[in-house]
Amino acid sequence: MKPTADVLIVGSGAAGLTAALNLAETRSVAVIAKGALGDSASARAQGGIAAVLEEGDSFEAHVNDTMTAGAGLNDIKVVEHVVEAAPRAIRHLIDLGVPFASENGALHLTREGGHSHRRIVHVADATGYAISQALEAAAAKHPNITLVPDMVAIDLVTGRHATHFSTSGAVHGLYAWSRKKKRVETLTGRATILATGGAGRAYLYSTAPRGATGDGIAMAWRAGCRISNMEFMQFHPTCLYNLEVKNFLITEAVRGEGGQLKLPPGVKGGGKRFMPQFDERAELAPRDIVARAIDHEIKRLGLDYVHLDISHRDPDFVTSHFPNIYEKLLGLGIDITKEPIPVVPAQHYTCGGVVVDLDGQTDAPGLYAAGEVTQSGLHGANRLASNSLLECLVFGEAAAKHIAANWGDLPEVPEIRGWDESRVTDSDEEVVIAQTWGEIRRFMWNYVGIVRTTKRLERAKRRIDMLRQEVADYYRNFRVTPDLIELRNLLEVADLIVRSALSRHESRGLHYILDYPGMLPEAKDTVLVP
Ligand SMILES: Cc1cc2nc3c(=O)[nH]c(=O)nc-3n(C[C@H](O)[C@H](O)[C@H](O)COP(=O)(O)OP(=O)(O)OC[C@H]3O[C@@H](n4cnc5c(N)ncnc54)[C@H](O)[C@@H]3O)c2cc1C
Repeated sequence: MKPTADVLIVGSGAAGLTAALNLAETRSVAVIAKGALGDSASARAQGGIAAVLEEGDSFEAHVNDTMTAGAGLNDIKVVEHVVEAAPRAIRHLIDLGVPFASENGALHLTREGGHSHRRIVHVADATGYAISQALEAAAAKHPNITLVPDMVAIDLVTGRHATHFSTSGAVHGLYAWSRKKKRVETLTGRATILATGGAGRAYLYSTAPRGATGDGIAMAWRAGCRISNMEFMQFHPTCLYNLEVKNFLITEAVRGEGGQLKLPPGVKGGGKRFMPQFDERAELAPRDIVARAIDHEIKRLGLDYVHLDISHRDPDFVTSHFPNIYEKLLGLGIDITKEPIPVVPAQHYTCGGVVVDLDGQTDAPGLYAAGEVTQSGLHGANRLASNSLLECLVFGEAAAKHIAANWGDLPEVPEIRGWDESRVTDSDEEVVIAQTWGEIRRFMWNYVGIVRTTKRLERAKRRIDMLRQEVADYYRNFRVTPDLIELRNLLEVADLIVRSALSRHESRGLHYILDYPGMLPEAKDTVLVP
């Protein structure tokens, strides 16, 4: 069977496009994205990328900072590998034309929480956008790369889908829903790379893009790959609370510049700061402590949100330091120079995912993964700020190089059966999908959020089991739609998150459970085997 391309890549974020550019000199590549090419977490990244680039800093210090954030669960070999590869990855981006900020002829480096040195390269406060633009422009120019937006991967194609059934477990491509043609297509290749990003949309509030429904994690799991450390979900303390806009991040710099967290009026202590009761560093305590304190107050008082107030600072200072936030919120009727911002913590980063080795290889022959979809061993129990884009660059390149170097060993593409077209009935109950989606995100938020208990996790598990049955029936009987594909995956990852959380009998890093407040002496990954 003639493959669609030598290599298929699912995802046009930093990981997917880096892999594509590293393969294109020798192989034909098709990159698919479920929506617009630029609709990715990568394009939203604000802060920057961590790399040791300045005298006085050292690989050892970057490794130590990463291990400290990861609460000992990181794989030191992986951490060392990524940290040492970082300066070269930054140079590649500069060669592609990314206009990193500079000062006196040298890159301008900022410092972020958890880093012992200034080592974050950035493009003002929109680093991810500049990187995505540069990668996309280079990919669009390359004759060996085909970019295919609006193509929603449904499931990986394995030997089970071959005309001559095989149980080898090898992956030969995928089935995907074309939004344009409104039908399922079979795409095949000698290698497939999952670069589908995280699973943030399993939560009611998330800074991740709408498409972050854990599709790659769910597809790899169904194809027989191990999934690891899904209980480690990173929450950002301050996301705008708004009924329409559920993913607008209010940068930590607002607290850094004097923003105060207060209880809203109408409750005991309304209008007063609460962080000093939780930590002597108050609003400047580390991310997880601030997020936990906000969550505690919201749950204790039955609130929808708390207030973040910077209105006591000079209005010119506020508008010049936070022009984007000022404009965005003014458009929503909030003048931050005069009034507080309603905020909630929001899911921000998925530390767990598909188990990969240093070459981005998964458990399935022919299947690779890179970026937020993976659990590579880099982040451990908590991601250090600005290490995630770096992981995309290093593993995107590693997967590409391994494919190129081992081409002859990759599985041949057999004759594949087309998509089962017997499901021709359109559902007349689209509302069920929207309703179920909302239900999952709400109970994940309430029961599997920042502070967990075994009882709440079990409650979530019971709901998941019930909904899985309903969604499986729905999936069997009706024509697929992008919403149904995402819902099915969302339930799969919600189940993986809850099962992982239930199996960890300690509090470590981002997993905080009241029944097991202490940390066990030995750090062990949670590994789920299909
Ligand atoms: C608001 C925000 C700020 C951040 N700031 C930083 C920062 O400053 N520094 C840092 O290091 N990290 C930051 N991060 C994290 C970082 O941006 C992400 O971890 C990283 O960009 C993930 O890249 P990726 O290539 O793995 O996935 P993404 O960039 O999310 O790309 C995923 C791609 O997969 C596609 N896809 C998904 N499912 C399917 C499917 N079923 N079919 C077809 N295509 C599919 C999507 O369309 C998309 O193209 C931030 C994240 C957010 C949300």
